[in-house]
Amino acid sequence: MKLYEHQAKDLFRRFHVPVPEGRFCVSAEEATQEAARLKRPCVVKTQVLSGGRGKAGGVGFASTPEEARQVAEELLVRRIRGEESKGVLVEERLEIASEHYLSVVADPDARSPVILFCRRGGMDIEQLVGAHPEELVRIPLDPRYGFWTHRMRSALADAGVAGAWREGVISIAHRLYDLFWFVDAEVAEINPLVLLHDGRLIAADGKLSTDSSALFRHPELPRNEGTGREDRAKKYGLAFVELEGEVGILSNGAGLTMATMDQLALAGARPGNFLDCGARIVENGVADGLRLILEDPRIRVILVNIFGGGVRCDVIAEKILAVVSALGEEGALRVPVVACLQGRNGEEGRAILRENPLPNLQPAESMAAAVRMAVDLAAGP
Ligand code: GDP
Ligand code: MN
Repeated sequence: MKLYEHQAKDLFRRFHVPVPEGRFCVSAEEATQEAARLKRPCVVKTQVLSGGRGKAGGVGFASTPEEARQVAEELLVRRIRGEESKGVLVEERLEIASEHYLSVVADPDARSPVILFCRRGGMDIEQLVGAHPEELVRIPLDPRYGFWTHRMRSALADAGVAGAWREGVISIAHRLYDLFWFVDAEVAEINPLVLLHDGRLIAADGKLSTDSSALFRHPELPRNEGTGREDRAKKYGLAFVELEGEVGILSNGAGLTMATMDQLALAGARPGNFLDCGARIVENGVADGLRLILEDPRIRVILVNIFGGGVRCDVIAEKILAVVSALGEEGALRVPVVACLQGRNGEEGRAILRENPLPNLQPAESMAAAVRMAVDLAAGP
């Protein structure tokens, strides 16, 4: 679950990670008052879950409360990559000497938290690290021992980070790591970590993403609804995981969905998602699921693989026909769908699909046949 910047900064404050003075505001009036209270130039930042607000026009500056009102009015109605603003964060404007990057991320490959530091931070960090990966200092931590100051110090020294501010970076990294651990975070990021002209370090931005499966342990955390496909799927009651391949999968039951992924992978295709409709297969699971899968432009074919247990295959076949023809009429079905039904009333279900041909719907007689058809269609012209 992603947190908004102002929520992340509230937690930063509790863990003594220095943040600018300011307040989250939901109206232009509140923003004006906060700017008046701060009595100095401000930065006004829209609160959305997606990053890169600076480049998308989501960060503005104001020298007076009246300017803060104008900037807030604009930002409150501006969408950032389609996402509505939840409010604005009004903060003291920092006198920046230099911008750096610091984060703690859960690294699934290293199976440990890793601290990442880059001397050159800010809005172009992705391009910079892409072109100069050597500039990113990686410090894996062993969670059994927690934060090791000396390890971070020697890694920074190796990277040529010297002088008084190195200790400042280490101390903030330690607090950020404690926060990361405390909230079961996946990512805790400060970009930019700002060095002020007076030598202080301060988190000008804050990004925090926590493990959704661990939320039950954290009544103290807010509950945010994401806008990504995985979040929307959850709202529909579907288990959905985005992957990178070209074959969309809609199945029922985690075991069958995983087996379908395995069969596809063995046959040389890559699954584009994991979608287990579970019991929602008899409700709108097929329609909601197909729409979610179709949002991904990489998908070239969809494999619907259903086992009828509690639900009868003839019922599901009617459902599939209705949904596929509706999507087809809307012009929303831009890829072929291969459908395989087995289990209770399997023959009846398959017969319904065979006897009611639809453009873009290809019934398969077995899972092996369905996988072959999907692989061929994915590889096709
Ligand atoms: P993001 O683009 O969503 O990551 O938003 P950030 O909070 O990181 O802000 C983007 C950029 O705005 C930063 O990299 C800074 O260059 C600039 N910025 C943000 N806050 C301040 C501030 O208080 N003072 C100054 N001078 N620049 C700021
Ligand atoms: Mn940032």
